[in-house]
Amino acid sequence: MGKITKYIFITGGVVSSLGKGIASSSIGLLLKQRGLNVVLQKFDPYLNVDPGTMSPFQHGEVFVTDDGAETDLDLGHYERFIDRDLSQRSNVTAGQIYEAVINRERDGGYLGRTVQIVPHVTEEIKGRIRFAAENGENVDVVITEIGGTSGDIEGLPFLEAIRQFRLDVGRRNTLYVHLTLVPYIKAARELKTKPTQHSVKGMREIGIQPDILVCRTDRPLSQEIKSKIALFCNVEEKEVIEARDVDSIYQVPLQFHKQDLDDIIVEKLGIQCPPPDLVEWEKMVHKIYSMTESVDIAICGKYVHLVDAYKSIIESFIHAGVENDVHVNIKWVDTEKVEAEGPEAHLEGMHGVLVPGGFGDRGIEGKISAIRYARENGIPFLGICLGLQCAVIEFARAMCGLEAGSSEFEDDVPHPVIDLMIEQRNRSKMGGTMRLGAYPCVLKKDSLARRLYGVAEISERHRHRWEVNNDYRERLEENGLVISGLSPDGNLVEMIELPSHPYFVASQFHPELKSRPQRAHPLFKGLVAAAKRFRRGACGERNASTAARQDV
Ligand code: GLN
Repeated sequence: MGKITKYIFITGGVVSSLGKGIASSSIGLLLKQRGLNVVLQKFDPYLNVDPGTMSPFQHGEVFVTDDGAETDLDLGHYERFIDRDLSQRSNVTAGQIYEAVINRERDGGYLGRTVQIVPHVTEEIKGRIRFAAENGENVDVVITEIGGTSGDIEGLPFLEAIRQFRLDVGRRNTLYVHLTLVPYIKAARELKTKPTQHSVKGMREIGIQPDILVCRTDRPLSQEIKSKIALFCNVEEKEVIEARDVDSIYQVPLQFHKQDLDDIIVEKLGIQCPPPDLVEWEKMVHKIYSMTESVDIAICGKYVHLVDAYKSIIESFIHAGVENDVHVNIKWVDTEKVEAEGPEAHLEGMHGVLVPGGFGDRGIEGKISAIRYARENGIPFLGICLGLQCAVIEFARAMCGLEAGSSEFEDDVPHPVIDLMIEQRNRSKMGGTMRLGAYPCVLKKDSLARRLYGVAEISERHRHRWEVNNDYRERLEENGLVISGLSPDGNLVEMIELPSHPYFVASQFHPELKSRPQRAHPLFKGLVAAAKRFRRGACGERNASTAARQDV
């Protein structure tokens, strides 16, 4: 369609956590549904090269792309909204920028010159914007979200770079969207526009006049408020978009579309394209709000007080719920508490159990006993990464009589059924050295996994160092564990299941990274379907665990 690539920059002011990632994704979806080829990109101004070495408590989930980049969780939203696999080009940190500049300096790339933020760092940043557009195909629009809040010291080079970018590619080809907060002050019983005015003033001081303002608010913005913001911030009234709190993030694009945001954007950028096709999206959102039946699923992990750590899992349950016509209530279970109080206290009455990925030994025994409870009581179970590893340890202990564990947690465990992968043994650097990204996996004939996926070979994303120890495979299989997914060379266990159980499935990879709103991931879809059958069985005629087994 468009011959020239257009660039949209999304910045945020006033406070963090305004939902810039969702706003960027929503704009991406609206443009994609207008037939445009859209790519999203996030700049993170911190100095880590990637978030892979940060604690989930600091950073939330680390999202992994097919090409093995460890990225910000906003990339998950981008992929889910525009339904497109992104790559390492889509997440750039200040750490990567400075690393590239300093390496070039050491290689003599700037010989004779003083290396400076302007122009060297800003040129490197601008190069990454162009790089996102050069994806081998005709990219119509690149949407770049600048992490952090305007006014942050470390964000300044990024804002300077996007200011210059308009001069490089032309006014008609760039757009600045600024997200702000319009708070309600109880004592005055009024919405206040001053923080927005100040934030825009700050942007103008560094040379950026926002073209569109997206205003987060917990109540409607009156015409009066909008015209006040418009007047003081130097935009037209229709360019003040209300972003009122909604229950589902999937409603945001529809909310924007109602205010003609996509029309305003394409008009300003001079893009000729049809109106967006939002029929399927609207149907999905309608379903999210109208489902009446529900199931209770426990997520048993260690970062349960910080839901950002499990962002993609939460979204995957929404997608799987929509496909199964059932609302998924998530119960957060802290596995350290399971250790202290026993699994029954936390899992009784649950219709499904999920044990997610994780690192370190905190809460491990709680995870293992939660899995035992699910296995023995026929409660549908899905284990992810560390969840698979704990399921194997539990099975080895209970069904093979082994004093089993993982060498990640105990150096001299008598039976390390989970062990460090061979290629990991000589690694000394921590950053970017796990087994990362998409790898193929072959599914066993007649297995539940094969039936759920409906194909013989799949590709899934990984992030781990430990694996099932092949020395124990025979012993585990003899006792009834089915290895249902293997790497094509047969060397790495990628999936396991228990045929004697209605739904006991675990994967070494992270299925949650590939679930999409209109394409729920088969393993989540299967878990929610089994939970629904389990709940119906528990409420009525049949034995719950037999019911859960039906028609998979
Ligand atoms: N800590 C485990 C490993 O490195 C599991 C990792 C994960 O769950 N992502 O293998």
